[in-house]
Amino acid sequence: MALGKRLNMEKSKKLFEEAAAIIPGGVNSPVRACLSVGAAPVFVDHGRGARIFDVDGRSYLDFVSSWGPLICGHAAPWTTAALEEAIKKGSSFGAPTEGETRLARLINRNYPSMEMVRLVNSGTEAAMSALRLARGFTGRDRIVKFQGCYHGHADSLLVAAGSGLATLGIPGCPGIPAALAELTLTVPYNDVAALTAVFEKHGSEIAAVIVEPVAGNMGVVPPQPDFLPAIENLTRRYGALFICDEVITGFRLGLGGAQAHFKIKPDLTILGKIIGGGLPLAAFGGRREVMERLAPVGDVYQAGTLSGNPLAVAAGLAAIEHLMAEPSIYSRIRQASERLSAGLLALAGENGLAVCGNQIGSMSTLFFAAGPISDYASALKSDVGLYAAFWRGMLARGFWLAPSQFECCFTSAGMIPDDIDNALDAADAVFKGLKK
Ligand SMILES: *Cc1c(COP(=O)(O)O)cnc(C)c1O
Repeated sequence: MALGKRLNMEKSKKLFEEAAAIIPGGVNSPVRACLSVGAAPVFVDHGRGARIFDVDGRSYLDFVSSWGPLICGHAAPWTTAALEEAIKKGSSFGAPTEGETRLARLINRNYPSMEMVRLVNSGTEAAMSALRLARGFTGRDRIVKFQGCYHGHADSLLVAAGSGLATLGIPGCPGIPAALAELTLTVPYNDVAALTAVFEKHGSEIAAVIVEPVAGNMGVVPPQPDFLPAIENLTRRYGALFICDEVITGFRLGLGGAQAHFKIKPDLTILGKIIGGGLPLAAFGGRREVMERLAPVGDVYQAGTLSGNPLAVAAGLAAIEHLMAEPSIYSRIRQASERLSAGLLALAGENGLAVCGNQIGSMSTLFFAAGPISDYASALKSDVGLYAAFWRGMLARGFWLAPSQFECCFTSAGMIPDDIDNALDAADAVFKGLKK
């Protein structure tokens, strides 16, 4: 399991030491610390297209895409131009601007279930707000989430939450009052029988079911065919709201996200990541009668100093308009993802490694487990030590993968078939070193 090449990371190392002295763990979001892959973080200098460049002068083909937002790659000229234009006018007013309505309309055009939209600053904020709204609207307190799904770090949602907690092995999180956590019922992903049982027991107390329509935060786990329709039917039957967290899948599985792909109609939807074009922006929206319970029309309070920020809105508009003008991007990034995923499985198999893969659209995960992987419990059977060794080998060869087994590998529009072939050649060399 030797690294093969020794990396020169002197500047990254120094910057990390300085950061760790003043910022907890040296990072502003835990997964960036690369702890689970036994590495120190790579400090980034800049990005261009499908590549990032570190402070030590090395470049990497980027399969992380800032954890999802950068479907068209780094420093896209249309984003840069839109931001240059916007900043000249000022950065924030705390008063409405026209772009906010344009962005809400573009979202509604692609997500007809989002009859009304409100803009916020992060996926966490959108999920937290949608949950409060669902509780306010239904007058009920309990919510249902699925084990291994991540919906940001609001108290009610940080229960069995996958993502960074799975990566760091944190089972539950101190600081969340037990009385609040008890209101969150958790069910295994893809388990219709368990969900039905929860509704039979608590149906009249459940405000909402929240789900990642394709799970991305326990590694990629697609929904089985009966799963999303069952959520839709049960919520409807019991008067609960169906909240679809499309922070990853929105504008990624296609312009219409997972709800168009799987033909489902949630009551509320959460968007983030791609809709901000790399700036802090997210949204929640849904049925008019539900959204009109929000202040100032209704009594459910929700607000934000920087909500609908003109720079974030300009970047978001540029990103969405570009995707709508060039929808062929979606088949290109899907093909790249298929080629990568199938290639990795074949090569790992040839090298005698027990792996399985899940892939849909531009999202994939190679699990170091025999599989199949259909929920959090099966994902957790992965050999994270092997993933870490794979990750380090790929990093040394110039490929930037998510520094955790339990995340997505994203292809982006700037990648060409040669890039994928090079990644597969590198993976083959790494697999040979992992072979027992
Ligand atoms: C990233 C993510 C969030 C949280 O978004 P932030 O902008 O990081 O707060 C919520 N839901 C899902 C599915 C995500 O992947």
